Parts: sequence; C-alpha cells; structure tokens
Amino acid sequence: LGRLEEITHLRRLRIHSRLPVVLPERVTERLVRLLAECRLRGVVVIHANDSKRECGSHVDRHEAIGKGCIGSRAFGLVVRHPRLAGIPIIFLTARDDDASIERAYEVGGCDYVIKPLRPRELKARVRFHLRYRRLLERLAYVANHDPLTGAHNRRSFFSRGEALTATTQPLCAIMLDIDHFKQINDTYGHPVGDQVLREISALIADNLPEQAVFGRLGGEEFAVLLPDADIDAAAQLADTLREAVADLSVDHDGRAIRCQMSVGVSSLQQLDVRNIDKLLGIADEALYAAKEGGRNRTVVRRTRAQARSPED
Ligand code: GH3
Ligand code: MG
Ligand code: MG
Repeated sequence: LGRLEEITHLRRLRIHSRLPVVLPERVTERLVRLLAECRLRGVVVIHANDSKRECGSHVDRHEAIGKGCIGSRAFGLVVRHPRLAGIPIIFLTARDDDASIERAYEVGGCDYVIKPLRPRELKARVRFHLRYRRLLERLAYVANHDPLTGAHNRRSFFSRGEALTATTQPLCAIMLDIDHFKQINDTYGHPVGDQVLREISALIADNLPEQAVFGRLGGEEFAVLLPDADIDAAAQLADTLREAVADLSVDHDGRAIRCQMSVGVSSLQQLDVRNIDKLLGIADEALYAAKEGGRNRTVVRRTRAQARSPED
C-alpha cells in the first residue's frame, strides 16, 4: 500500500477502510465533489496523467513511476493491489488511442472514460458499476450460504476448508448432528422443525470465535472449522456448544421444544496429509461414536491411533 499511496497521493485523502477511493491530486477538488454526489464508495478512479504540463509541480513523482501512464508497470501495480481486489476500477484519461484502452482493460480496469470530463456520464457509469458490484456480492452470498440458517453451504464450507487445510496449522474440525430430529418434525411439523434448525444454528454461530468457519452440511448436520485452536480448545468449545443447545428451549404455542446434539471433534495435527475430507471424515467418525455411545455427548479424536480406530 505504501507504493500505492506514493503513486496516488492516497495519504492526503480520507479513505474508507474497506473501499478506498483513489484520486490523484490535480483533479481532486472537482472529482471529489462529483463522486460525493454519487455516494462513491467502492469505485477507484485513476487519473492517468501523461504529460508534464498536466503533472505540474508533481512531475518528479510521476516521472519516477513512468509518468503514470496506462501502459506503465505502476498502473498494473495499482490495479492489481490486493487492497483493491473486487473493487471496480474506472480509468479516466485524455488518452484515446486503442492501445491505451486495450491496456486499461488488460490490467483489470472495468471501464474507460475519455476526457474532457462529462460529469453526468461519469456519474452514470459509476452508478452502474456500483449496482453491478452489489449484484455480484448478492449472487456470491446466495451461492455460498444456506437460505434457512445463513450458515455456509456445503460447497462454500469445503472450499474454505480446502484453503485452510493447505495453509493453517493448528486446525480443528467439529461435526454436530441433532439427536432424533426426525421426531421434532413428526411431532410438530416441518415448519416448526425449520424454526428449531434456525434457532440452533444461530445459537451455535453466536458461540463461535470470529475466525471460525460455520457450515450446514446437510439437513440437521452442522460443522465448524477452528483455525489456530488446539484439540483441547476445540473439545472444550464443542462441549460448550452441545450444552448450549441442550439448554435451549424453543417456544411453540406455549410449549417448550428441546433438543440435544451429538458432537465429534478432530484435529489436522493427527493427519499425515493436509486434507479437508480426511479432517471432517475423522470428526464424522467421532460423531458416529457419540451417537453409538448414547447421544448428547462429545467424542474427541486426539491422537493418530484414535483417529484410525473406529472405537472410542
Ligand atoms: P439421529 O439421532 O440418529 O441423528 O436421528 P435423526 O432423527 O436426527 O436423524 P435422521 O437422519 O433419521 O433424520 C434427520 C431428519 O432431519 C429427517 C429430515 O426430515 C429432517 N430434515 C432434514 N432437513 C430438514 C430441513 O431443512 N427442515 C426440517 N424441518 N427437517 C429437516
Ligand atoms: Mg440427527
Ligand atoms: Mg443427520
């Protein structure tokens, strides 16, 4: 970011921590006013000064980065900066040659506006890109979350799990399955079963540390990935979750519905390979042992030998 700040005078502007707006100094006043009118958050505008006259007193700085023109390494550097990932980038420039336009899109720009500046057109484009970005965010949310509980869906959970097992150690997994949940549906009906699932899911989510990944893997089966937790911490958390669910009372027409959960816990340190399927497989096998052992309990696989043996 230091390099980015140097290039764009970023330090001189108020920056929204998540969605920075990048403006070069020379056009700041007019553009800032314009962008404020469009509630411009989440769009980066890079003004490609390409002549000494335009650079004015800042010519040295711009020359140091290859005059900041679109073909330069500096622009690639700005556009690809991790802090700007997912942020729409509009080029605003006097350059109207095909090569510059092509290059702007190649380095990751999403739009190209040729000066002289036409405020209404720029605002319309900015609004379009913000709308489009919100739509993409919404689609990403829907694609990755379970609609009933808001937890990560199976696909999203596993894809995060793959990334975590490749990079994070220690890492533990907790599998949780509601006991005799079919009876809840049979007794109260499916919509009440849904309500119970929502409340249990919210209770689990509320009790997790911020870095945990929480997913609904199937009907009444949930899973948690715990980065930077050793097996003892994971076992303790698992039992806290189990007890919290056992203490929960879901109200239905004045009647209290109660549930219990069986829980299995595993740790990546037991494994020879960094593999999400294996990590969850062992937690699932521990969960099965908890069911076999009488339900409403937590079974922890602490060692390699335990993980290999189906008996607890
Ligand atoms: P066990 O203690 O062995 O886990 O018994 P169980 O009854 O919880 O397990 P089983 O797999 O026999 O039944 C799971 C039930 O969960 C059956 C299914 O109707 C119900 N279920 C799955 N998804 C949903 C859902 O989205 N909403 C509701 N209301 N019920 C669901
Ligand atoms: Mg069950
Ligand atoms: Mg089940």
